[in-house]
Amino acid sequence: MSVLQKMRKRIAIYGGTFDPVHSGHLEIARRVTELFEIDEFLFVPARLAPHKLDREVSGALHRYAMLALATRTDPRLSISTFELDRPERQYTVDTLAHFRAQFVESTDLFFVMGADSWTEITTWREWRRLLTLANLIVVTRPGYEISVAHVDVETAARIVDLRGVTENAVTSEPGGQKIFLSDAVMLDVSATTIRRAANEDDGAKLTTLVPLEVAEYIRKYRLYRNTE
Ligand code: ATP
Repeated sequence: MSVLQKMRKRIAIYGGTFDPVHSGHLEIARRVTELFEIDEFLFVPARLAPHKLDREVSGALHRYAMLALATRTDPRLSISTFELDRPERQYTVDTLAHFRAQFVESTDLFFVMGADSWTEITTWREWRRLLTLANLIVVTRPGYEISVAHVDVETAARIVDLRGVTENAVTSEPGGQKIFLSDAVMLDVSATTIRRAANEDDGAKLTTLVPLEVAEYIRKYRLYRNTE
């Protein structure tokens, strides 16, 4: 990497419900941080109005606490309360605009999402503008193809396929924001599976899917009992 590139800072932003955070999320955070030489990886839990959802979502404090437990030993991983702190729902485009304005120009932003979210990107509010505010990293997920058929030609032209690349992914790609595809993580874990295991009080399964402290927290506060 050139000296000039090193002077640029790289921040990753990872939005989600994180109800709860699980080993899939954490593996993505660690691998993306290594592969893209990220200086700071920010989890940005979403604020969600429970009455607007088809299931009850744990309170923001529980979701935040579990993220804090899961990231406590890794100095590169942090949590931003940007969305939790705002009374009204934030859209990703607003969150990215906030971070873009907050960091100096020499900071590169990378927004991280799974292949399932990428499939739906064209339904996201102002998705084209969203893709001008940060680079995107799309991570493979079992059961979801990474297709580009749903985006327009201009967007597709910005895709940099890094599948198969296992180190030093980045990138002195010229031009604007890119859309990186990465298969650095391929883990069949979902928060839905964890909520189900918690509901069935399947502690053994829980501890294979979330860090021990998070499993203990879920048990202690009896999260996800009779909620599915
Ligand atoms: P749920 O089962 O409740 O839908 P989830 O496991 O998908 O939850 P979210 O908090 O909704 O977790 O995910 C946040 C982001 O992480 C999304 O962009 C999602 O695509 C991605 N993600 C979650 N789990 C994985 C995984 N195992 N592999 C790749 N991406 C993932």
